[in-house]
Amino acid sequence: MNATTSLGYLVNQTSDDSISSAITSVNHDDFPAGEVLIRVTHSSLNYKDALAAKGHRGVIRSLPHIPGIDSVGQVVASKSPAWEVGDEVLVTGYGLGSERWGGWCEHIRVPADWVVRRPPELSAVEAMTLGTAGFTAAQSVSSLQLHGIVPDKGPIVVTGASGGVGSLAVAILAKIGYQVTAVTGTAAAHDMLRELGAAEILDRADVSDDSGKPLLDTKWAGAVDTVGGNTLATIVRSMQHRGCVTACGLVGGHELALTVYPFLLRGITLDGIDSAACPMPTRLDIWKYLNSAWKPDKLDSLRSEISLYELDDYVIRMLAGETTGRIVVNLGTNSSRMLEDSSDG
Ligand code: NDP
Repeated sequence: MNATTSLGYLVNQTSDDSISSAITSVNHDDFPAGEVLIRVTHSSLNYKDALAAKGHRGVIRSLPHIPGIDSVGQVVASKSPAWEVGDEVLVTGYGLGSERWGGWCEHIRVPADWVVRRPPELSAVEAMTLGTAGFTAAQSVSSLQLHGIVPDKGPIVVTGASGGVGSLAVAILAKIGYQVTAVTGTAAAHDMLRELGAAEILDRADVSDDSGKPLLDTKWAGAVDTVGGNTLATIVRSMQHRGCVTACGLVGGHELALTVYPFLLRGITLDGIDSAACPMPTRLDIWKYLNSAWKPDKLDSLRSEISLYELDDYVIRMLAGETTGRIVVNLGTNSSRMLEDSSDG
């Protein structure tokens, strides 16, 4: 590797129109335009990255592509007065890893106004253990608070609880005093969820109502939903009066079958979470919370750390719903050495 090339996970189209991926040396001349070049030390694997790794056209714009919606590292070149060489920074969301090449590469080049200074109480690996998942979980919690859902109002339900966003939402909510009901389809995750602070654990089937009733018995004051589909529809119909539901995900479906009754008769708020497009002032506030009172105590226990070479396997497992917690991609010197070793052989 010389200074103008980097090792990255490149997704491409083969001659028979199928999608392939390879760890390969990419030239910095092929990077998109931007004022800041960052040496990435860690990225992560999110559900959106798993889709991007399979060339999903709903997520990426063009091929070849490098996934990775999260990255943390140091500035190595800057044409912006806002950033200097050596600054410890992170980038999550915007178009990283979707519209443009992302963090599964030793370097990224990005616009200066996407860059956030790494919060001082978060190491690089902690920042990526949180990553977009932690940011989205925190944005959801912040939304509940903005809608007046304080701990005294009642329990909060979190769906997809063993996944990245879900597990971090459980951890943050429990840490700041909420009573949390975790909904999971993963029996093996029950112990982890209790350790993170879940007071109650329900099976996915318990939160999937097919009766067609416009309103169900009231259960929760707030909800962080990562699943969508019938799970989200069931939750909206089960909220207490003036409850708030945040919706960020679609692993269980993108459709939403509801009547207007939960909104008209119970004053329910359904709040969409768009972490990638979160405006910078709000973004900085959320990282400030994660840097202090909202930083989960057991962050390290949620992390599996892998190299670029293990991504193929983890992508398949994530798309099959078989991963738990957070998967951090380490882009330290080991990854480069492995490529040199394999090309020697
Ligand atoms: P993960 O894959 O880490 O977690 C998803 C979890 O959902 C799984 O662990 C599983 O948890 C549950 N699940 C999986 N398949 C199904 C299914 N068919 N039906 C019901 N539950 C299922 O993903 P992330 O946490 O990274 O992302 C979760 C969702 O949030 C995704 O849709 C992602 O695109 C979205 N997202 C949206 C963001 C935004 O800003 N809007 C930002 C980040 C993520 P369990 O076994 O415990 O039920």
